[in-house]
Amino acid sequence: MGIPAERVDRLEALARAAVREGNEERAREYVRLARRIAERNRLTLPRTFRRFTCDACDAYLVPGRNARVRLQSGHVVVRCDCGATARYPYD
Ligand SMILES: [Zn+2]
Repeated sequence: MGIPAERVDRLEALARAAVREGNEERAREYVRLARRIAERNRLTLPRTFRRFTCDACDAYLVPGRNARVRLQSGHVVVRCDCGATARYPYD
């Protein structure tokens, strides 16, 4: 794993920790920075990053904290506190 990928992983961990501490704005900054690093280095963001970030408001989503996760006819539906929802098939 190269240095950009390691930075993305580190930023994801920081974003998750920031949300747990109630710093959602700081988490958004980490999410945006990680996205920029991925773009600049043509990296695919890790699956957990893609699933647990809101495309609408850049929040890092922690179920039970700022996101609701439910199952609906073969899909996982993740709803951010901003109101945006994303659906994914089961893995
Ligand atoms: Zn959102």
